[in-house]
Amino acid sequence: MRKFCRVGFLNVRRIILTRLFWQVCEQPFLFLFNPYLCRLKFNFMEIRDNQYQIQGVSLTRLAKEYGTPLYVYDGEKILSQVKKLQDAFSSVKLRIKYATKALSNINILKLMKKAGTGVDAVSIEEVKLCMHAGFEPHEIMYTPNSVSFDEIQEAVNLGVMINIDNIPMLEHFGTYYGNGVPVCIRLNPHILAGGNAKISVGHIDSKFGISILQLKHVHKVVEAYDLNVIGLHVHTGSDILDAEVFLKGAEILFDAAMEFKGLKFLDFGGGFKVAYKQGDISTDIKEVGNKVSKAFKEFCEEYGSELEIWFEPGKFLVSESGYLLVKVNIVKSTPASTFVGVDSGLNHLIRPMMYDAYHDVVNISKLEGPERVYTIVGYICETDTIAADRKLREVQEADIIAIKNAGAYGFSMSSNYNSRLKPAEILILNGKPYLIRERETFEDILRHQLEIEL
Ligand code: PLP
Repeated sequence: MRKFCRVGFLNVRRIILTRLFWQVCEQPFLFLFNPYLCRLKFNFMEIRDNQYQIQGVSLTRLAKEYGTPLYVYDGEKILSQVKKLQDAFSSVKLRIKYATKALSNINILKLMKKAGTGVDAVSIEEVKLCMHAGFEPHEIMYTPNSVSFDEIQEAVNLGVMINIDNIPMLEHFGTYYGNGVPVCIRLNPHILAGGNAKISVGHIDSKFGISILQLKHVHKVVEAYDLNVIGLHVHTGSDILDAEVFLKGAEILFDAAMEFKGLKFLDFGGGFKVAYKQGDISTDIKEVGNKVSKAFKEFCEEYGSELEIWFEPGKFLVSESGYLLVKVNIVKSTPASTFVGVDSGLNHLIRPMMYDAYHDVVNISKLEGPERVYTIVGYICETDTIAADRKLREVQEADIIAIKNAGAYGFSMSSNYNSRLKPAEILILNGKPYLIRERETFEDILRHQLEIEL
């Protein structure tokens, strides 16, 4: 009780009133009336006027003007992905909560806001970034893992939706907020799915979520503290191809949801797979939309209330929009391979080394000529193969290579390893390139380091 008083009754009352206000005000975003989604042209990287272009903007020109390595994002592609998802779930009350961690530049967040999405944030810093970009607290889902309770309190005070993924934290939450502050519970459905072991997070051995087998315990905590549970959440993993996996997750969530009164939404996380190369298959979003919407409507009928359905896609919305442009420093032939050494590496794009991710590569400096097989490697003092044994138009020093599918978990996972500078970022929108992040300088490497007398 004393602890509760410390948080402040007035503060809690303010939070509850703010939430009630937004619940009343909030209307589903109809993309049909969204000017950002109405004017899409759907033209992505293509050869025109003897150049690789995005929306009429030459990529080699961008590389020349802004230098390399350079992240370039096609804003139209992002918007078209939002629209695809909206279309697929048009028969239910869909809320898209873009997974901020995939690409967190504030301009990308602002674009999402314009397109009518909300956001999913996994740290208090991401929450603040989203608010800085213009999201209202009620549009932000905060899904932390293994954070301190202080961080959760900070998020509650900011007024965002809290998603709790372990029982001790649920108890703390109950002690402080009782049934005053609405809460969502992240369940672990025990489904093994995803493109790589490191991104399969819904299985029994995963640190994420509260085991579906511990539901009884969850209910005891909910009853003991009279918790106001308004949402349930699952996120099975990334790169999930099969609609059946989403359906399986949905069924588990529906069963669990029947035991909770007063739910307002069910959140199915992210995880849709995108195409990594020509002819590659991606999640059939229409099929997932049809099947999950149908099952969801049946569930709502049985539950007796029309809930919202939430998804938190990251990769699906931004992966294919992004290109990392790198310059060839060296072409090195060995008895076994021909290496193309570029001015970037795992410090800027860690996915190939971390997840064995496939990234298509194109020599955008050469439109014709013979093709040869190369292995593209980075300049980091560590094995950092970006793409092995790929056919490219004959590569020469100073050529520009475009690494595709670099929009998601590219810049946002970049580092200063080897004391290298992080790249600049460009967003192309309405046929115009905008510099949305400056390239780091050597001063950035020194910033925050304190020199002592030795
Ligand atoms: N939601 C949560 C809780 C996640 O952990 C992740 C990714 O790890 C996502 C959403 C986004 O996943 P994806 O980028 O595969 O759509």
